[in-house]
Amino acid sequence: MPEKPHSFNLKEAFKTGLENNAEDDGFLKEEWNLRPQRLKECIGQKQVIESLDIAIRAAKKRKEPLDHILFQGPPGLGKTTLANIVAKEMEGRIHHTSGPALEKGGDLVSILTSVEIGEVLFIDEIHRIPKIVEELLCPAMEDFAVDIIFDKGANARAYRSRLEWFTLIGATTRPGLLSRPLRERFGIVRELTFYSVKEITQIVKRSAAILQVVIDDMGAQEISRRSRGTPRVANHLLKRVRDYTQVKEDGKIKKPVASAALQLEGVDTEGLTILDRRFLEVIINYYKGGPVGIEAIAATLQEESETLEELVEPFLLKKGYLIRTSSGRRATEKAFAHLNILPQTGFFSDRTFI
Ligand code: ADP
Repeated sequence: MPEKPHSFNLKEAFKTGLENNAEDDGFLKEEWNLRPQRLKECIGQKQVIESLDIAIRAAKKRKEPLDHILFQGPPGLGKTTLANIVAKEMEGRIHHTSGPALEKGGDLVSILTSVEIGEVLFIDEIHRIPKIVEELLCPAMEDFAVDIIFDKGANARAYRSRLEWFTLIGATTRPGLLSRPLRERFGIVRELTFYSVKEITQIVKRSAAILQVVIDDMGAQEISRRSRGTPRVANHLLKRVRDYTQVKEDGKIKKPVASAALQLEGVDTEGLTILDRRFLEVIINYYKGGPVGIEAIAATLQEESETLEELVEPFLLKKGYLIRTSSGRRATEKAFAHLNILPQTGFFSDRTFI
């Protein structure tokens, strides 16, 4: 009897914050080990890596800290990894925090005052810092100082505390939500894009070697084709295929066993997960192919629109299953074909896609 696919959970696979606890837990340590440690170990993102290499070497030559850097792009593409690498290449410590963790100005001030010269402060999900924290962060980035206000009203007094010359590295999956003043304070802005199948195949092979898993070229390619161009997904799927192979086969990953394991995970041949397919099915079946707003799709799926915008949409847009028009999301002909759903006659010919 064929085994029923269970859902490969995109949200599970994208859980972040691993670095903070990397020493505490074996599983997290394994994740940590898969991260490249140096620029030369990085696969893909060639232009980004090359430009960082030049900026780092120039800063070292001048014996100056690096400009502030903003990494933007969908989750799992290597923003945190690159922040860690930059700190390592600059031979400095890295302090990790995130937008939602910085609730009050004091949270930021206590981190900033502990950062030493040339060190890196990494703020993940920087688009989520509250306005009040941003108002402290902007001058800290520009003038390397923070104004601390004591007392309120007529008794209020400001005290300027000088900071060491540090490098801020911000990571965001939603660059559009960053305010202009904050954005303008980054000297280096780099966009990470989805990796090619060839690059992800290399990443799968590298991870397999670290995990001491035997895999052949076709097996690695099969995992890569279904990994949404995303290293984090590739590593996650590799581990699921490893489990399957160890239980059902001789432990060596080849193409057929990778296909069977990933089918069981609910990941199809194009890398679409159950959530991706449900997303497209909602547009097609409930809203006649669209256009439909993201909130309506989220309500029907009982998911948060933010999750859909960050985890689901970028890949569907990139692969041409979805388009965004001025009036909402629309499923494309490719989406109908992939899901084996016949569009009504004239469905595509009488609509303009803008
Ligand atoms: P993000 O911060 O963008 O969500 P991460 O930096 O956490 O992504 O990367 C997710 C995982 O992908 C890491 O654990 C790492 O193992 C892997 N990874 C990221 N970039 C690369 C790369 N260039 N080469 C190999 N593996 C990578």
